Amino acid sequence: MELSIDTLKKIALRVYKEVHPLIGVKKAAQKSKLGAGGDMTMYIDTVAENIIIESLKRLNTDILLISEEIGEKYIGDRDKANKNKKMLIVDPLDGSNNAVRGIPYSSVSLAYAEGTHMKDIIKAVVIDLNTKDIYWAVKGEGAFLNNNKISVSEFDITQKCFFELNLPMKNLFKYIKELSPLIKRFYRVRILGSSALTLCHIAKGSMEAFINLRRSNRLVDVAAGYLILKEAGGKLLSLNGINIDRELSINTKFPFMACNAKLEPILKEMLTSERI
Ligand SMILES: [Mg+2]
Repeated sequence: MELSIDTLKKIALRVYKEVHPLIGVKKAAQKSKLGAGGDMTMYIDTVAENIIIESLKRLNTDILLISEEIGEKYIGDRDKANKNKKMLIVDPLDGSNNAVRGIPYSSVSLAYAEGTHMKDIIKAVVIDLNTKDIYWAVKGEGAFLNNNKISVSEFDITQKCFFELNLPMKNLFKYIKELSPLIKRFYRVRILGSSALTLCHIAKGSMEAFINLRRSNRLVDVAAGYLILKEAGGKLLSLNGINIDRELSINTKFPFMACNAKLEPILKEMLTSERI
């Protein structure tokens, strides 16, 4: 059985219901273990992931779950899931550090795929855990915020472009120096802390670009935002300017740039000319 977009939204809303009241609460930050994605799993991450696992079990479906804390886990019949190549790529809580500190910028990211690569992602949902806004997309049918169709902005580099810059803390100043010709061209820089949500903000035209140079950036953070952005007319590119289509796996990690269509040429030109 294929997971419907309504089913994905219901799972996201279930996580919202349980996790929203934990935002900024001391207990949320209790550490449990090192997650499969490489970050420390906190109580709030575990709550979010368990709701997703339980929801999938109740659906009586055969699927491979790829999720930040647990890694890869088959739900239902493993052989059937492999044969149908059905996968759900999940970050149960993107922006955990914001959530536990009470900063209102975190989300749940759910991407459904039938296949082995990012191009096989066909449905996506990202819910803002603070506003309850649901961003969603179905491949070939467009991207939406709640009931309204969304699209990327038409801003070019001469307009007031907002961009997010996520740089490795190691050698931070080296990266800033190398990127300075590019940084100077933008109107404002924001560093917000949930990649899934930022991709949605580019998709709805509130921001123009996101440059994430962290090689530890995980597929689970961007899988859903990737489809939503693409369906809204945006781009997700590797640092050498090629469309990203990586393998769907818990081990898949990559830096990227995301942008509206107007900024694609200049970002490609400027980033590929920098030694990053
Ligand atoms: Mg997470």
